[in-house]
Amino acid sequence: MEQELNKEALEQIKDDLITRKNQILHDLQEVAKQDNHDADNLGAKFPEYGDKPDENAQEITDYSTSLMTEKVLEKTLEDIDGALKRIENGTYGICKYCYKPISAKRLIARPVASSCIACKTELQENE
Ligand SMILES: [Zn+2]
Repeated sequence: MEQELNKEALEQIKDDLITRKNQILHDLQEVAKQDNHDADNLGAKFPEYGDKPDENAQEITDYSTSLMTEKVLEKTLEDIDGALKRIENGTYGICKYCYKPISAKRLIARPVASSCIACKTELQENE
């Protein structure tokens, strides 16, 4: 039988998730500026280096990099928020597909995991 997560480990995971969330929010501030019309919608900053062709090219390159970084950060943030929400409502560590407990080992290695290894493996095989 796989070991389930104990209370101390859960508290530790929650602390880690909050720390990571704050780090990501900070990183997002670096690449994105808040859109006044929609607080949830963060747009990447378009850099202004100058008007020369090579400067314009660099602006576009950096803008694309920012957009990509932003997407990754937002996805990670979503995963973390999801995990924190599951901790709040007591469904954390339960596989969303088969409703069995996810092993403590997997949760410690990947705190945002919402499915057990068996379901995850099956999903990947079906892809
Ligand atoms: Zn499962």
